[in-house]
Amino acid sequence: MIRIYVRMVGMRWNGQRAAGTADDGALPGLALAEVAAVPGHLRSVRTPEFQGAVFHEVLAKSALNRVPGGSSMPFSWTVNPYRGCSHACVYCFARGSHRYLELDTGRDFDSQIIVKVNVAEVLRRELHRPSWAHEHVALGTNTDPYQRAEGRYRLMPGIIRALSESGTPLSILTKGTLLRRDLPLISEAADRVPVSLAMSIAVGDPALQQSIEPGTPSTRARLETVATASAAGLACDVFLMPVLPRLTDSTAHLARLLSEIREAGARSVMYGPLHLRTHVKPWFFAWLEREHPELLPAYRSLYPGSSSRAPQAYRRELAARIRPLIRRYGLERGERPAPPPALARAAGSGPSFSPETPTLF
Ligand code: SF4
Repeated sequence: MIRIYVRMVGMRWNGQRAAGTADDGALPGLALAEVAAVPGHLRSVRTPEFQGAVFHEVLAKSALNRVPGGSSMPFSWTVNPYRGCSHACVYCFARGSHRYLELDTGRDFDSQIIVKVNVAEVLRRELHRPSWAHEHVALGTNTDPYQRAEGRYRLMPGIIRALSESGTPLSILTKGTLLRRDLPLISEAADRVPVSLAMSIAVGDPALQQSIEPGTPSTRARLETVATASAAGLACDVFLMPVLPRLTDSTAHLARLLSEIREAGARSVMYGPLHLRTHVKPWFFAWLEREHPELLPAYRSLYPGSSSRAPQAYRRELAARIRPLIRRYGLERGERPAPPPALARAAGSGPSFSPETPTLF
């Protein structure tokens, strides 16, 4: 791997136009001296629009990632246009993926974002291989495809078109309200192939949500996005993950959030307790020490040493509390009315995550 030192002064951000074509709406970039050890690195960009963030534009060699055999995920392929995520959720499951770039799994994961500027073009080529079996492709399983950079790079429309035009079923999981921009395109895709949409919403309290998911749209904005998708005839599921012990797992919190999710018109809810992988733990515990030091003993006992899953007793207790609520609000999978005819194929076609699927978001 080659370590690249880049300096760009007065460079214009030209979105995904890797070949350097003009972008009339571009913001002037700022002087930059960044170090990146990124395969296929083209350039690194910092703009006033995204304070503190650096975007490392790369040319990807491949777009489709095969999910390792033996994984519990109900899909075999993923596409990740970005690595790192400015949504910056403290508990983020994907933080460990930044290590291979010689970047740290904390602040760097939140602010050093790898952008695969040619991802749609490479994907299109891969989907046209005679060997492609048109298996389901999941988007949003590693980092969020609708994080803020997507507003500038606009990689998702090309990805969605490439998948739908090749006859490949797809699913999208996000916390990004930018999803709304692509709803007409997603509706068109759903006329051709099975499509499923899911929004991740797990924290009802606004102060806690801003503290633990500082770069994300608010819960209210995400609920409104679910409502917009539903009104457009697109069934939208909600991933109520991760449920945070002693912070968001009370019956009162869960009932309030589920009631709002129901009101927004979500089709179903899948939940999962906090999963703390090794590379996430130090960042999570540092946050806990700063924001809720009184909970440190409880969390140390729930996630001792290298254990990443909450103990079975906790998971049972949570299930006993949340499952009746999910039923009460009619949000069990398969309970809501069928979507309109154009989307009939999409209904039930998405990943059938079990309630205990490890936390993706
Ligand atoms: S949990 Fe999802 S939205 Fe949050 S930082 Fe990770 S990838 Fe981004």
